[in-house]
Order: sequence, then structure tokens, then C-alpha cells
Amino acid sequence: MNVHNEIIVVGGGPVGSALALGLDRRGCAVTLLEARAKGGAEADARTLALSYGSRLILERLGVWPLSPPPTPILEINVSQRAGFGRVELSAADAAVPALGYVVEYGALQRALTAALSHSRVRIETGCTALAVNGDAQQAGVEVEQAGGRRVLHAGLVAIADGGGGLELAQVKTRDYQQSALVCDIASEQPHRNRAFERFTDEGPLALLPNAAGWALVWTMHAQRADALQALDEAAFCAQLHQAFGPALGTFTVRGRRSVFPLRLKIAAQAVAPRCVLIGNAAQTLHPVAGQGFNLGLRDAFELARLIAVRGAEDAGGSALLKAFFAQRRFDRTATILFTDSLIQLFSKDIPLLAPVRGLGLAALAMIPAARKFVARRMIFGARG
Ligand SMILES: Cc1cc2nc3c(=O)[nH]c(=O)nc-3n(C[C@H](O)[C@H](O)[C@H](O)COP(=O)(O)OP(=O)(O)OC[C@H]3O[C@@H](n4cnc5c(N)ncnc54)[C@H](O)[C@@H]3O)c2cc1C
Repeated sequence: MNVHNEIIVVGGGPVGSALALGLDRRGCAVTLLEARAKGGAEADARTLALSYGSRLILERLGVWPLSPPPTPILEINVSQRAGFGRVELSAADAAVPALGYVVEYGALQRALTAALSHSRVRIETGCTALAVNGDAQQAGVEVEQAGGRRVLHAGLVAIADGGGGLELAQVKTRDYQQSALVCDIASEQPHRNRAFERFTDEGPLALLPNAAGWALVWTMHAQRADALQALDEAAFCAQLHQAFGPALGTFTVRGRRSVFPLRLKIAAQAVAPRCVLIGNAAQTLHPVAGQGFNLGLRDAFELARLIAVRGAEDAGGSALLKAFFAQRRFDRTATILFTDSLIQLFSKDIPLLAPVRGLGLAALAMIPAARKFVARRMIFGARG
């Protein structure tokens, strides 16, 4: 077998799975390595807001429609708690059928796994990549599986490990000193397919319409998130009501509350030859505005497309990997800057900032072209 034609994807999360599918559809020989046991990703508590652009990519991969059907977001209501200014972005503003769709991480993963089971991708679960290295000829991945170790070889290794322990590039990190508390909740008032992003002085609070209720993503100082997680349901709902306001009536909690620590992580191009980073392995963002997976999916889609377009060229060769890194730079930088600026601008309790933010939101509310610009960039990325 010629290892040049083989591609190994490390990490079978949503980005790695999408890449494996995209490469398979373009005729590449792919092995997907996933550390978790079969079905292990389905317990992940995250709920993802997929942009309309992500839906189009999933359609091309044959992973859409999802079951159960995701909840469409037709309107996003952005406001700040202690200040004026509010803006509503609508699907009509952006000329799309929906701004996005809310889906459980586990349901998305199930759909990707089902599509993979009909592909030629070789899937190894319970298989952890321990180290990756490469040279001009080939790359090697040392793996551990069922207590044994071995080395697999390929022409290209794509790392989609979610930013795990493999150190393959220089990484810039900033600890936001915040955590996201996530859980499913219900409210007295129905969601009517609206999402809310409310900036509070502790951090952004997002309510995403999810089936008959809401997915809550509430970011705040890490210690406060731990304290809120430990509260009984009535006390927790009272705190949520106080932070969000009365617009949706009272809240009730459905299911467990999970807490995720938040950091910005930006990786440079991989130093190991024949190795490329995508998804959270390349950049881990704050969940404000729900951009992380959407950006990672665009990484996966563009890498598979570039490999197909450059046809006979060595997929792990430095020319192709440099071209990929350069091609992704604009979308990645703009999306990182967008989410990070929202946190810097809206999470700081500086008295003069509140009116400035209010003016910004009010201006956005009054200018349809500006609303369309923001909505389309959130949906399609920087090239939207
Ligand atoms: C609270 C919260 C809310 C979010 N909301 C949104 C949202 O609304 N919209 C959005 O677009 N994004 C959102 N995100 C971001 C989104 O979850 C991530 O961007 C996305 O999951 C990244 O996918 P990934 O496949 O790159 O990494 P992951 O989802 O982390 O998957 C990585 C996979 O690699 C496997 N793995 C790790 N190490 C190894 C190894 N050494 N060997 C083999 N396998 C390995 C893991 O088991 C896992 O299955 C949110 C994030 C958080 C924390």
C-alpha cells in the first residue's frame, strides 16, 4: 500500500468526522482515530447552534436532515442587561430561510457516525493518538488501543482532537477566567424560534430555542458558575430570572447542569511535517455567538475541497498544507476577532462602556444593511 494516498484523521468529534466524510466522498483512503469508545460522544452536554452555512455543508456531506429535526432560529435578539440598546437580527434580514439551527452535540455526532458507517472510512474507536511525527516521506501516529501500542503511517495526518494533549504547533492561549454553565430549561413563554443573546456584567447569557424549551449557555466567572451549578433548582431558576429579566416568565430546569471552562487558544501552523490542525485543535473560541463548530466545519470542508482540487498532488506535501493555512487565515482571524471583541467589549464592567455599547446596538438596529452584514458573517463566515 502507498502511504502517500492514506490520510489519518485524529479525533472523531464533529469536525474530524465531517473531514473524514468529505475526504471519503472525494475518493481518499481515510482512517479515523477516536479516543472515546463507540457512542461515547453522545453523552456530551453541549448544544450547538449550527449556522445556515453549516447546514449547506452538512447537506453536501449527506448528513442533513438530522433526526430529531434541529430547531430553526428565525430571529436573534441581542441586548445588554444594565443599559439601553437592543437589536433583532432576522432570517429575512439575511435573506436565508433560517439564521441557524439548534442541535444537541450527541444528535449531530449520531448523524455523522451513521453517515460514516455507509462510507469506506476505517474507524478505530477506543484508540488514542499519543504522538505524531512526520518527515518528507510519511507521517507516523503512535496509538494506544486496548492496552497495546502501535504506529500507523499515512501521507497526511489531520488533527481534530479538539485541542487535546498533542503538542504539534505553537499555541497562544488566553484564559477568559470564565466558565459556561449549560443546561436545558423551559420557560412560561414559548420560544417562537427566537434566540436571545443577553450581555450581562458577568458575561453573555444565551438562550437558544431547542425543541419545546431552551438550551441555556450562561457564561460567568468560574467560581460563580460552580456555585450556580450547586444550587437547588428553585434557587438556580430565580438567579436566571434575575439575570435574564421577566420577558419569558419563570424558568424551570430540565436535566443536569454542566460547566465548561473557557479559554481562547490559537495554534500556529503545525510544526510536524505532513500534519495539519483543524477545528478546535486549530482554534478554541469563547462560545459567545456560537461560532466554534461552524468555523471548524468550514476548516474540514475547505481541506477536503483543496485536496480534491489539487488532485494528483501529495496531500501531505508542504505546498498544499501551506496553501490551506493561508486560505483559512482570513476566515479564522476574522471569526476569532469577532468573538473575542464581543467578550472584551461586553464583559467589562466599565461605566463609560455601557452607553457606547448601547449606541452601537441602537445604530445596528436602525441600519438594515449593517444588520444584514452582521447576520451573513455569522452564517457564512468572513467570506459571507
Ligand atoms: C458551552 C459551549 C457551547 C458551544 N456552543 C457552540 C455553538 O452554539 N455553535 C458552535 O458552532 N460551536 C459551539 N461551541 C464550540 C464547539 O463545541 C466546538 O467548536 C466543537 O465541538 C469542536 O469540534 P471538534 O471536533 O474540533 O472538537 P471536539 O468536539 O472536542 O472533538 C474532539 C474529538 O477528538 C477526540 N480526541 C481527543 N484527543 C484524542 C486523541 N489523542 N486521539 C484520538 N481522539 C482524540 C475526542 O474524544 C473528541 O471526540 C460551544 C462550546 C462550548 C464549550
